[in-house]
Amino acid sequence: MKPAPFDLCIADSVEDVTSALSSHGEAARIIAGGQSLMAMLNMRLTEPEVLIDISRIPGLDRISVDETGVTVGATVRQASLAAHDGVRQALPLLTEALTHVGHIQTRNRGTVCGSLAHADPSAELPLLLVLLGGSVTLASSQGRRTVAAEDFLIGTLTTSRRPDEMIVSAHFPRAPAGSKTAFREMARRHGDFAIVSLACIARGRDVRLAVGGVADAPVAVDLTNVTSETLPAELNALAWRLRGYDDIHATARYRREMIRRLGLDMIMEAMA
Ligand SMILES: Cc1cc2nc3c(=O)[nH]c(=O)nc-3n(C[C@H](O)[C@H](O)[C@H](O)COP(=O)(O)OP(=O)(O)OC[C@H]3O[C@@H](n4cnc5c(N)ncnc54)[C@H](O)[C@@H]3O)c2cc1C
Repeated sequence: MKPAPFDLCIADSVEDVTSALSSHGEAARIIAGGQSLMAMLNMRLTEPEVLIDISRIPGLDRISVDETGVTVGATVRQASLAAHDGVRQALPLLTEALTHVGHIQTRNRGTVCGSLAHADPSAELPLLLVLLGGSVTLASSQGRRTVAAEDFLIGTLTTSRRPDEMIVSAHFPRAPAGSKTAFREMARRHGDFAIVSLACIARGRDVRLAVGGVADAPVAVDLTNVTSETLPAELNALAWRLRGYDDIHATARYRREMIRRLGLDMIMEAMA
């Protein structure tokens, strides 16, 4: 199938985007890397009247690394972030997770903020944003606001972004000094969307754990005084709390088992 006809607006500035979004409302859609949106357009799962191409806006392709973490502009490609040496040093977990986001070809086009806006429940970048307590900054013709990851990613392909807003940047905070991080995911093949993805930060016996692909958005929990004896029961309780769902890829029972097995392996590695 081919997309339904649409008008194309090539934006030169954030103001171009916000004014087009406020005039067209829900009839407009931003296109960044097109790696998720093009498939949805081709299948006519969405039929916007106007597509707003943000890829040529100057200044949105910046990656900045400072003592607080990594800030990524709206048009930064996943491949650019994965190849950034400063990011690898500041937040190696982010570099590691990026190698699981699709394939080199999709990472060359796909943007970091596009993945956050798309909000697939098993996507790696939303998982990390929730784990690290990150945020997105949204712009509209009314001004800007910054929203915490857990308030932004609220359901399957659903965020708290208003139709007149665009993401201008995302901030991934550094993991606390002295902590260790680890990542695991189960996918049918490397590069496929994960069935279940997990990431954690361990500091002594305190662990922050995030799980994707089980609930309708990534979920993070803080576990204190973790030991190899108590951890299996804590992971089991979390698995039952998140419940999981059946789909063509896996059953809810399988997803819960992945939390128990991958979670145990990952957290023991981070605590070692
Ligand atoms: C073969 C294949 C495998 C893939 N595997 C994975 C995987 O394993 N893990 C994974 O996480 N992803 C995967 N993806 C998806 C990929 O990561 C996409 O790049 C990403 O989901 C969307 O980024 P994009 O820049 O391409 O956004 P687009 O496709 O252009 O847009 C996606 C959505 O976000 C909105 N949007 C984009 N940018 C903004 C913005 N700045 N402000 C507001 N809204 C915006 C668009 O309107 C649209 O609704 C895969 C894709 C393909 C084709």
